[in-house]
Amino acid sequence: MKTPGAIPASNSVSARHEGPARLIVNLAALAGNYCTLQNLSPAAETGAVVKADAYGLDAGHITRTLAHAGCRTFFTATPAEGAAVRAALNGTEARIFVLNGYWPHSARLYREAGLTPVINALDELAAFSAGGGGACGLHIDTGLNRLGLSETDAASLLPGEGLLANCQLALVMSHLACADEPGREMNARQRARFIAVSARFGDVTRSLANTGGVLLGPDYHFDLTRPGIGLYGVNPATEAPEPFTPVLHVDAPLLQVRSVKDGETVGYGARWQADGQRTIAIAGIGYADGLMRSARQGGYARLGEAAVPIVGAVSMDLTALDVTGHEALAAETARVQFYGADLGPVAGAAGTIGYELLTRLGGRLERRYEGGV
Ligand SMILES: *Cc1c(COP(=O)(O)O)cnc(C)c1O
Repeated sequence: MKTPGAIPASNSVSARHEGPARLIVNLAALAGNYCTLQNLSPAAETGAVVKADAYGLDAGHITRTLAHAGCRTFFTATPAEGAAVRAALNGTEARIFVLNGYWPHSARLYREAGLTPVINALDELAAFSAGGGGACGLHIDTGLNRLGLSETDAASLLPGEGLLANCQLALVMSHLACADEPGREMNARQRARFIAVSARFGDVTRSLANTGGVLLGPDYHFDLTRPGIGLYGVNPATEAPEPFTPVLHVDAPLLQVRSVKDGETVGYGARWQADGQRTIAIAGIGYADGLMRSARQGGYARLGEAAVPIVGAVSMDLTALDVTGHEALAAETARVQFYGADLGPVAGAAGTIGYELLTRLGGRLERRYEGGV
């Protein structure tokens, strides 16, 4: 049998010509997803969750695009993230809520960047009030048991009185535990509890729905929605992109293509063994760029339209792909794509969810933003 030379040099060189692995973000698709979410909940205002650097995609680019698409309410986890969003807004007026609440040591940041804390407990409300008060949100737990005032604590509050005397309530919210599972009875139970507990706060803006909640339908929309993952092109309920448009993909060069004989192994630990002669392409991307090591179970990349499986252990900077049968395409295109429209299923194969893959995208990836304003 002919054993081809390991490295078609032109392939290797042309791949390098276009540079190392990069993250490509389609800002027009992001704006389109914002409109899709707004159209799905026409009676409510559509906010945007841009915590964790907009799920790893860069809060600056994401915020500016969403503001241009009409978004006027943003949610971050921390005050530092909120300040970054305020800077990105560059004078466009918008409300920025800090979901993880009030951090007294950052009191100045809230004032200077105009951030609105979402208060999660009575002692936190007392600290906020003691620090001068002002506009704030209240998060009331209705069953997730993560953050939020208990319903009993919420029932001890009245707008304009006591702990709320020098606070202007800008929002009353809760968060769903199973929004991505429309069949779960927990959703209706949390909704009923939210309606009951929020009633005492009168005519305040109410918010319950993340992306999954928007997809649950109008009963869940209330006044303001808080989608995150849907903006970034992932449907949390089905893991398919629909009704959203994929926003990102990762594109990596094939640094070498080699022929591996029957019985030879690939990668650290020598655990993957060729069953017959295989053509293996080595992509210049690894777990330092955010690929999961566990992606070797069922993970794949796209070479053109073809799904090419990851073989062997993903290493820090390199990943082996079985491109047997696609040699010509590998030589011609010399680059492969990860994630894209497959993000949800690929995450599932690696034992995780699209959210985690996004927030793990590595700082080494070259970033390219397309379709911006
Ligand atoms: C992260 C988060 C969201 C956004 O959820 P998605 O599932 O990404 O739409 C909304 N609300 C709260 C409280 C969150 O923590």
